[in-house]
Formats: sequence, structure tokens, C-alpha cells
Amino acid sequence: MLSLLQQMARRGGIMSDEGLARYEQMKKRYEEEHSIKCPHCGYDYTEDIDFLQDLITYHGEDGPVKRECGECSKEFYVQEIVDRTYEVGKGISVEGEIHE
Ligand SMILES: [Zn+2]
Repeated sequence: MLSLLQQMARRGGIMSDEGLARYEQMKKRYEEEHSIKCPHCGYDYTEDIDFLQDLITYHGEDGPVKRECGECSKEFYVQEIVDRTYEVGKGISVEGEIHE
């Protein structure tokens, strides 16, 4: 998904208004789905290791987890959604990249 967005962004200069609007919509959705922000004050916890530490599970099986925002002291809930992807190939390069 991200690499598709990056490819589309690179072509941004020649994209139609409709294409650009669609790209912006996809980018917004991607960012929303891949970030954890307090719904009350917007504080961004996405890269807060302490916040994420006991949130990450194997299957997201813990259900919605209640959190108190360190910024505004209000409570909110976080549901982890696990979506793993895999890459399969016959070999591996010196850089550790898998290839067909
Ligand atoms: Zn907050």
C-alpha cells in the first residue's frame, strides 16, 4: 500500500485533480490507520515506545485497551489490528533482500 502511494506521489505533477483528490484521501486513510492519536487532544503516540509496549500482541487478541492520555488526562480506547504480509522467494541477496 505504501509503495503504491509513493509511486502515485512521485507522479503527483502530472496527476489529474480527481486522481490527486483520490490520492490525498488514500494517504489520509493510510495515516489514520497507521497512527495512534488521542481522539480528545490529538497527541500522537504512534512512536511512543512506552505507550506501545504492552499494546502489541500476536493477533490483536486483547481487544480494545483503555488508555489515559498523558497530555489531556482523558480516557480513550485502542484496538490493535494485526495484518501481516509475507514475501516469498527462492533466494536472498547479500543485503538480505529476498528475491524470486
Ligand atoms: Zn489527549
